[in-house]
Amino acid sequence: MKSYFVVRTHCPLCQGVDLSDLLTVSYSDERLEDFLRSYYHGKIKPEYLRGAQYRLEECNGCGFIFQKEIPDAELSRILYEPPSPMDPQLAFERYEGNRSLGYFLAYVPQLVSVIRQIGVSPRRLTFLDFGMGWGNWCRMAMAFGCGVYGLESSPVRREYAKQAGIKTVTWDEIQGMEFDFINTEQVFEHVDDPLGILRRLTSSLSPRAIIKLSVPDCWDIKKRIRTCNWGDSPAHGKSMRTAQPLEHINCFTHETLIRMATLAELEVVDVPITMHLSLKSFLKSLLRPGYWLLTGRKSTCLFFKKKARTAEMPGRNEHGDPDGTKGKGGFPLTPTAGNSPPYVARRRAQITLMERLQPSITYPRTRPIAIRHP
Ligand SMILES: [Zn+2]
Repeated sequence: MKSYFVVRTHCPLCQGVDLSDLLTVSYSDERLEDFLRSYYHGKIKPEYLRGAQYRLEECNGCGFIFQKEIPDAELSRILYEPPSPMDPQLAFERYEGNRSLGYFLAYVPQLVSVIRQIGVSPRRLTFLDFGMGWGNWCRMAMAFGCGVYGLESSPVRREYAKQAGIKTVTWDEIQGMEFDFINTEQVFEHVDDPLGILRRLTSSLSPRAIIKLSVPDCWDIKKRIRTCNWGDSPAHGKSMRTAQPLEHINCFTHETLIRMATLAELEVVDVPITMHLSLKSFLKSLLRPGYWLLTGRKSTCLFFKKKARTAEMPGRNEHGDPDGTKGKGGFPLTPTAGNSPPYVARRRAQITLMERLQPSITYPRTRPIAIRHP
């Protein structure tokens, strides 16, 4: 009997083999079968799952939680593609055509904050959306004038993105490239070797670069496994969807996300996201930071930079140096009105004042600002 699964024998982060079994449920379990049939509309046939188990493991060495039996390449392709070959434009209309204005607006404050943090004219920046989906984020970043590339494993989505004018790259092609920002939104929970992939992405970061890792928060997964509620949305406190069978094979918390980044020679960088909201949205949002404070949760949407190299070049102006005293190639600049430290300090103060006068709210970096379905 053919198996469509690969068994992980080691922790994907620390390679440890001291593992504890948190939950084992056969894929022939009636409730689990019902969920998969309903969620995938029959695309996942019973023979794909025969003999396999949903197994959630915890590494006793580093605390990482992950699914032990994961789909092989063939089952993964079936999971992430439309059920039958489809014209890319038609597929886009069917699966992505009804995105709201609010969905696109949510990308704006994040892009503004990242560009401001790097401190370089958008036209001089090169971005990569790793796991770009239908290319929505890419198109928003292109509107700022950035050079943008998208990487996507799904052939249908990739072809659609090409037709929409987005530059696509392959995994092999990015090895020789450098990016100033790499966006990964709801990607790392899906991949079989998260640390290996992050290390390769890190090698493609420019010295001033930032990388964003945003994944579902599995901080309370041990509580959720008591009920095995497969069907409800992840927002439901008892739903298992944060560790969704077949797809969310890596279950990160704030701590294990940082642990993985540390192993990839990255460190956290604070990128405050300033959101400009209508009065109604502003009042509603006031409740959210309070919720975060009350629960004490730490986010799984974080920004990172390379450890050693970026510590020397934080990059706050167009030449990539913090005080405006170096030009291209690190040569000293003659102080002028435009780059002198007093000017830079005054300009920053103006920006801060302008932000205070607008109906806006700046969230700490612990608040995820956009959720994009893979
Ligand atoms: Zn481990």
